[in-house]
Amino acid sequence: MEERAGELRAAIDAVRAACRVCRAVQERMVGAALEKRDKSPVTVADFASQAIVCRSLALELPADPIVAEEASDELRRESNARLRDAVVEHVRAEIGAPASGEDVLGWIDRGGADAKDGRYWSLDPIDGTKGFLRRAQYAVALALIEDGEVVLGVLGCPNLSDADGGRGALFAATRGGPARAFALWGAQETGGKPVRVDGIRSAAQARFCESVESEHSDQVESARVAGLLGIASEPLRIDSQCKYAAVARGDASIYLRMPTREDYREKIWDHAAGKLLVEAAGGRVTDIDGHPLDFGLGATLAGNRGIVATSGAIHDEVLDAVRRARGG
Ligand code: AMP
Ligand code: MG
Repeated sequence: MEERAGELRAAIDAVRAACRVCRAVQERMVGAALEKRDKSPVTVADFASQAIVCRSLALELPADPIVAEEASDELRRESNARLRDAVVEHVRAEIGAPASGEDVLGWIDRGGADAKDGRYWSLDPIDGTKGFLRRAQYAVALALIEDGEVVLGVLGCPNLSDADGGRGALFAATRGGPARAFALWGAQETGGKPVRVDGIRSAAQARFCESVESEHSDQVESARVAGLLGIASEPLRIDSQCKYAAVARGDASIYLRMPTREDYREKIWDHAAGKLLVEAAGGRVTDIDGHPLDFGLGATLAGNRGIVATSGAIHDEVLDAVRRARGG
């Protein structure tokens, strides 16, 4: 029996359910987004997705803490009553059972753990909310962390094409195990299909991907890195951890996330699932200084700056170009 098979099954089921809710919200595009204190948008789907995943994990693995992106405080305000009602309605429709507003807010707040030791989950209920709002790429990203190491990761990518050209893909990986792709919708699957990075040995042949949002990654600097590597093709700009999926399955060879601000620290839920997926598919992931990502410091990757993910053989060559592009 595969290690952590029970957790993997629970995580895949939870992410599938959350993706169904996101798709339902997107089809109806209920309401505009709320603006959070950091000015980033949050939608009905972010909250409903977090409620669904936290409820599933509470039923299956009640002792496990969850560190998730959203919290219920904004939703509890009377001025946001309509948004809250829409969240509750979508959660009820997905679980097919009665649930009170308090139940739903309580599930969202199960994601408020302040964990950094032992075992806990990280969740981004919608990674790439801006992509979701543009009807482009977004992901539901769930990972299990033990003693600062990501040991299991699941990425649901509702708008990414699957291997057969359909819409929607799900990726799962466990540490030491293979990376696999599954159909996102529909019937329960068999064992999934193995996912492998490409085998290029020289970065000049690489296609690289980066954020659509220039505030999330310095696109001027990444163009400089690409120039130094002799990459002629245009970058693939994708929202969310779908970038990690692109590297894991060989659509791209490099994912660059160049810091736009000295003080920004990456969030664990933006990287945990994707990083394990790329590693399990045979690639490498470090920060821009070549350091391993440290998931044992709380909600942020406080000891790291930026991200470099590659198909592996070209990693050191890319890191060297990043150093030179930054004047090192
Ligand atoms: P992406 O879709 O790759 O552009 O990344 C989306 C994520 O970027 C969001 O989930 C945010 O947590 C994160 N983010 C917000 N501000 C920044 C920033 N200044 N630098 C890097 N990432 C950011
Ligand atoms: Mg995110």
